[in-house]
Amino acid sequence: MLSSPAFLLRVVNYRESDRIVTLYTRELGRVGAMAKAARGSRRRFAGALEYFVLFDALLTAPSREGRLYGLTETTLRHSHAGLAANLEALSAAASLLELVAGATPEGEPDARLFDGLAAGISTLAGSTPLCARAVFITCALSILRRTGFAVSTGGCNICGAPLPEGRSAYFDAARGGVVCTSCGGGPLRLPAAAVGLLARLDRSSPEAAARIDVDGALLAPLEEALEQFIRRHLEKDLKTFSFRKQVCPS
Ligand SMILES: [Zn+2]
Repeated sequence: MLSSPAFLLRVVNYRESDRIVTLYTRELGRVGAMAKAARGSRRRFAGALEYFVLFDALLTAPSREGRLYGLTETTLRHSHAGLAANLEALSAAASLLELVAGATPEGEPDARLFDGLAAGISTLAGSTPLCARAVFITCALSILRRTGFAVSTGGCNICGAPLPEGRSAYFDAARGGVVCTSCGGGPLRLPAAAVGLLARLDRSSPEAAARIDVDGALLAPLEEALEQFIRRHLEKDLKTFSFRKQVCPS
């Protein structure tokens, strides 16, 4: 038996009353688990086995030939009920779970990634719609970095030069991130203020990102840049990924 903080990433119904769930756990990383009698009897998992809820999962190890853990009990830690009041925050949280589902390798724990995700979802649950968009960018950059898909934001990803302040730059997903205008020619041009904001969001914690007095007009090109990057590098892992539009991960 092992107990670990966890988030629910995916659910598939199985047989009459069971569910097969994908969890992102602090102790085991991403795992599949059989949740017996998860349907029908609501008391079985006491409302904890829901999207966006942080819960403690009590798991039994897979049988020798199997890959599925057994989920025997869940204990609610945080319901993050505040997400229900804010569609931007809810869809940002859904996209973060999608990203974790697609980018993390199975069975490889990363406590820092888990803690960052938990901080991100907790921050989203208390943020305004505009702040939620900034928090999403910070958290997505962090998840990408920890899973080996780091986005370059601080300097030109080709010549390595720091980006001069007050100058626009290109974003080239194929070349890993921000590219200076001398190396230039990327598909997306970012205004100078957006380049600065991207680097700042990349350095921030989710809590700090929520406190930035952010200009909404600068967020759209950054969201576009991230979407291009994620589609380019994670397309095969994220067949269903719909960037910040999907309210519930499937
Ligand atoms: Zn350059």
